[in-house]
Amino acid sequence: MRIVIMGAPGSGKGTQAALIVKELDLDHISTGDLLRAAVAEGSKLGLKAKQVMDRGELVSDDIVLGLLEQRLRSGGDAGFILDGFPRNIAQAKALDTLLERLGQPVEEALQIDVDEEQVVQRIAKRAALEGRSDDTEETVRNRLKVYADQTAPVVDYYAHKGILSRVLGDGSIEEVFQRIRGVLQIQGDS
Ligand code: ADP
Repeated sequence: MRIVIMGAPGSGKGTQAALIVKELDLDHISTGDLLRAAVAEGSKLGLKAKQVMDRGELVSDDIVLGLLEQRLRSGGDAGFILDGFPRNIAQAKALDTLLERLGQPVEEALQIDVDEEQVVQRIAKRAALEGRSDDTEETVRNRLKVYADQTAPVVDYYAHKGILSRVLGDGSIEEVFQRIRGVLQIQGDS
């Protein structure tokens, strides 16, 4: 299966994506992780990306698309879940073109809905645990704004294609995962 998972920063999409890949044996592709790896390498591209990420802005489409294409080409045929991409309409269209070329179109788009208050609380907790440099209050506010302005329209994009499902992201990790299992029609009782 080829899935796109969407949700505001702090919606839990990364956590749920990790559970889904385990269950369905998919490849987990997170553009946030790809970018953080580039930053950790200390390459010129990584340095440039870090400045943008620390402001809570989107890294340029060219850079992210380049990293993504490289990663997709090195993956197998088992299917994948894309986490953190696409984040604007231009990326959604570029993804369609790229996946069409690879003969691997997106089959499911999954949106995790959470309210803003909850997201802010969760990220504050994560900041204390993980120390991500883009989890400061000011940056989080900007990430939420960027999400509302640029990423929320992507949800409509997939709704128009008729492949969108939405789940509520409140409650425990396990509760949210059970909702996702229902939507993706994953069998079993674990
Ligand atoms: P979150 O969903 O909590 O914001 P991510 O790890 O998905 O966490 O993203 C962290 C940051 O990485 C984003 O704020 C952005 O700067 C950058 N980023 C990740 N994915 C993309 C993308 N598809 N396009 C542009 N920038 C991205």
